[in-house]
Amino acid sequence: MDPAASALVEVAVTLAVPGRYHYAVPRHLAGKAVIGARVLVRFGARKVTGVVVRANTAAPEGVRPIEISEVLDDEPALSPELVELCLWMADYYEAPPGEAMRVALPAGSGVGARSVYGLTARGREVADGEGAALPAKQRVMLVRLADADMPVAGASDAVKRIIDALVTHGLAEVRDQRAISRVRLKRERVVRLVGELAAARAACGRAPKRLFVVEALAAPAAAAHGGALPIDVLEQQVPGARGAVRELLKAGLVEVFDRERPIEAVTTGADMHVSGPPQLTGEQAHAVGVITDALLGRTPATAADATSNVAAVSPGEVASVALRRTFAPFLLHGVTGSGKTEVYLRVIAEALAVGRTALVLVPEISLTPQLAARFRGRFGDQVAILHSGLTEQARFGEWSRLRRGEARIAVGARSAVFAPLTDLGVVVVDEEHDGSYKQDEGVKYHGRDVALVRAQRAGAVCVLGSGTPSLESATHAEKGTYGKLVLTERPMSRPMPSVEIIDLRTHLPDPDGFLSAPLRTAIAETLAAGDQTILFLNRRGFATFVLCRSCGHAFRCPNCSVSLTYHRHNDRLSCHYCVHQARVPDACPSCHARDTIERKGLGTEKVAAAVATAFPQARVARLDRDVASGSKIEAVLSKVARREVDVLVGTQMVTKGHDFPGVTLVGVLCADTGLNIPDFRASERTFQLLAQVAGRAGRGDRPGKVLIQTYRPGSPAVVAAAAHDYAMFYAAELAEREELGYPPFGRLIAVRIDGADEHEVAGVAQRLAEIAEGVARRPDVSTTGAEVEIRGPVPAPLARLRGRSRWQIWLRSADRHALRRVARSLTTVEVASTVRVSLDVDPLSSL
Ligand code: ADP
Ligand code: ZN
Repeated sequence: MDPAASALVEVAVTLAVPGRYHYAVPRHLAGKAVIGARVLVRFGARKVTGVVVRANTAAPEGVRPIEISEVLDDEPALSPELVELCLWMADYYEAPPGEAMRVALPAGSGVGARSVYGLTARGREVADGEGAALPAKQRVMLVRLADADMPVAGASDAVKRIIDALVTHGLAEVRDQRAISRVRLKRERVVRLVGELAAARAACGRAPKRLFVVEALAAPAAAAHGGALPIDVLEQQVPGARGAVRELLKAGLVEVFDRERPIEAVTTGADMHVSGPPQLTGEQAHAVGVITDALLGRTPATAADATSNVAAVSPGEVASVALRRTFAPFLLHGVTGSGKTEVYLRVIAEALAVGRTALVLVPEISLTPQLAARFRGRFGDQVAILHSGLTEQARFGEWSRLRRGEARIAVGARSAVFAPLTDLGVVVVDEEHDGSYKQDEGVKYHGRDVALVRAQRAGAVCVLGSGTPSLESATHAEKGTYGKLVLTERPMSRPMPSVEIIDLRTHLPDPDGFLSAPLRTAIAETLAAGDQTILFLNRRGFATFVLCRSCGHAFRCPNCSVSLTYHRHNDRLSCHYCVHQARVPDACPSCHARDTIERKGLGTEKVAAAVATAFPQARVARLDRDVASGSKIEAVLSKVARREVDVLVGTQMVTKGHDFPGVTLVGVLCADTGLNIPDFRASERTFQLLAQVAGRAGRGDRPGKVLIQTYRPGSPAVVAAAAHDYAMFYAAELAEREELGYPPFGRLIAVRIDGADEHEVAGVAQRLAEIAEGVARRPDVSTTGAEVEIRGPVPAPLARLRGRSRWQIWLRSADRHALRRVARSLTTVEVASTVRVSLDVDPLSSL
C-alpha cells in the first residue's frame, strides 16, 4: 500500500527532541489514532511512545512517513484541549513537545521509553507456588515482582543483581515499555471457595493450613469481596498458605484468578460531613458576586472577549442564562484569615450549578489537608484530590473519576493544572505568589501561568488568591488586566494579630534556642493561657555549620558548594542539596586535633530541643522535611489541630495556609536568613513569608500576637510585614524593580549551563554569552526597540551541585519576542555532550 494514500498524523514523541513527526495511520488503526491518543512508533532504531497532536495532516514535500506501530489507548489519554495546552507550554517554555505531553499525562500511565523488570510465565508459577529452592532475597524479589513490574531505571545495583539471578533462572525478564503500554490498575491473584463450605472443611481433614485457608475464605471479611481473598494476604497471616491453596486447587475446592486490586480510599477529608456555608461578609459577597457575574456572562463585554466563544446552552441547564464563555482573570487579594476559601467555594458552587467544572490549585497539598477537607466537606464525592502522597493507583483512580465526569472539582498541586476536566468554568490558584508553583526540572513551567492560559482557552474565570500577591499579579490588577477584588478584614470582626519587632542587637538571643527574653516571656504566657505557639526558622537540622576549633576546617559537601548540616536525630552530617551524609569524625581531617569539632549555627532541630528544655511542661513538635513527608506531615498537623501540641517549631512548612484557631503566638526566630540570598526577589519572599507566618496567629476567638526577631529591624520587608501593609511594600519594591528592569517591568530567561568539568562548563558559558551578545545586537532582533541585555556568564551562587559545576547567563528585556529570539539562538549551538544547556523562562530561582 502506498503510505501517502493513508491518513497522516503528527506525533510528539516522548524524547528530548525538538520536533513533531509525521506518521502514517495503517488502515486497521484508523479511528483510533486520534488527537491525544498515545501511540508506539519507530523513531530511528528505537520504538518509542508519543502522543498524536495533529490529525489528517499533510507530509512535507519529499517525506514518506512510516506507519504507526500501535495505538496504546482505547480512549485518548489527553483531550484535544490539553494537547493544545501542552503545545503552547512547549513553545513558551522552550521545551520538547513530547516532554510537555509527558508532564500532562496521569501518573501511572507508564508512558515514555522505559524498560521494566517483570516475571516470566514460569516466574509466576514459582511465585504462586513455594519458590522454596531460591535464596531468601530472590524469593522476596519474586514476590515483589509478582505484585507489579519494576522500572529498570529506578532499581538500585543491589536490586539489579538479585533480579539478574532471577533472569538467569528464567523467572524474570526485562521487558520494554510495551508491556506497560496501557494505564492499568494493579492486579492481584485471589482465591475463592467453590462448592459447599462443609464439604471443603471435611476434605481438609487434619491439614491445619488448608483448614485455615478454607475458614478465612468463609469469613465475613472475604464475603464482602465476593468470597475472594488475595493469596498474598493469606500468606502473610499463615506462612505456607500458598502451598495449601495449591493443594486445595488440585482437589477442586477453590478457584484462583486475577482481579483488579481495589483502589484504596482517598482519606483526606473523607470523614468530614457535608457542612453548610457561613453567612458571607460584605467583602466576600461582593467578590463572589463579581466573579459569578463573569462566570455566567452577565458582565458587559470587554476587550477580553476577543478570546471568547459562544456555546449553546444544553437542555436541562438554566435555560435563561445565555452562557457566554469569556475568560475573566481576577486577583483576590485577601489578608490572611479573611476567608478567601469561602469565596472559592461559593463561586465553584455556581459553576457546578450550570453544569461546568472547577480546578483548584494549591501550593503543597500535603501541607494543607484542611483545605482539601473543606472542599470535601462542602462538595463531597464531587471532589477529586490529586495528591502526590497518594499511591500511583489512587491518583490514577482520582484522575479517572474526573475524566469520567464522576468528579467535577479537581484539587491538587502544580501538576493538577492538567486534570482531565471538560467544560471548565472556574480555575482557582490559591496562594498564587507561592514559588512551589514553578517546576524547576524538566519542563520548567509555572503552574499559575499555565492555569491562566488554560482558563483563557476554556473561557473560564480564573481566580488568583493571595494575602501577599506576587508583584507580577499585583501589577496586572493595578493595570486592570485582572479584575481586582479585596478582602481587607477577617470575618467575625477578628482583628489582625499585633506584630512586634524584636531587635536582636539589643535583645540578645540565647545561643541554644535563639530565643530573646521577650519571646521567651511570650511563650511562657501563651503556655499559661493554654494556647498554642508556632516558632518559625528557615533552616532545618541541629547545627548548620560544623568546624574545627583548632584549625578552622569547615565541613563542606564534596559534591555541592555548601556546608554540611549536623542532624542529631541520626548523628550525621548531611547535605541539604544531595544525598551526601557523613559521620562526625573524632579527629579533624585537616589538623588531626582531637575533640575540637564544634557544631555551630541553628536549625529547627536544635530550637525544638532547646524549647523542650526551657519549658519542660510543654508538648513540643517539629515540622520540617526531616520529620515529615506525606502522611507524617498530616499526622503532625492534625495533632496541632487537636491541640495535642503546645509549641510547633518548623520551617516554611509552618507558614502555609494552616487554620489553627488555638494558635495565638507566632515567633519568627530570625527574619534575616532569606534576605542574604543573592536574588532580586529575596525581599519579596521574605515579606511574603513573614506576612504568611504572622497570619497563622489569632484565627480563633482570642487575638493573636507575633514577635519577629531580626538584626535588621529597618528592612522594608520586615517593617511592611509588621504593619500588615502590603501597599507600602509593593510601592517600595516596585520602584526598585523598575530601576533595574526586573519583572514585572522586564522579562527574564535564565540560561543554565552545567557539567562535571568546571573548565568545560565555563568555556561553553563564555561561548554562549558571546553568541547571545551577537544576536542581541542585530538590528532586527527587536521590533519595539527594547534592547536585550545579557548578564553573565557567571558561576551560579550554588557553583557546584551534586558533583556538577554550574554557570548562568541571564537574558533580560522588556520585549518578550526579542528575548525569545536571543534565547532560541542558543538552543541550536552545538556543545559537548558532557555539558547540559537548559533555558528557564520566567525563572524564579537565582541559585
Ligand atoms: P484565608 O484563606 O483567607 O487565609 P480562610 O479561608 O482560611 O482564610 O478563612 C479563615 C477562617 O475564617 C476559616 O476558619 C473560615 O472557616 C472562617 N470564615 C471564612 N468566611 C467566614 C464567614 N463569612 N463567616 C465566618 N467565618 C468565616
Ligand atoms: Zn551535596
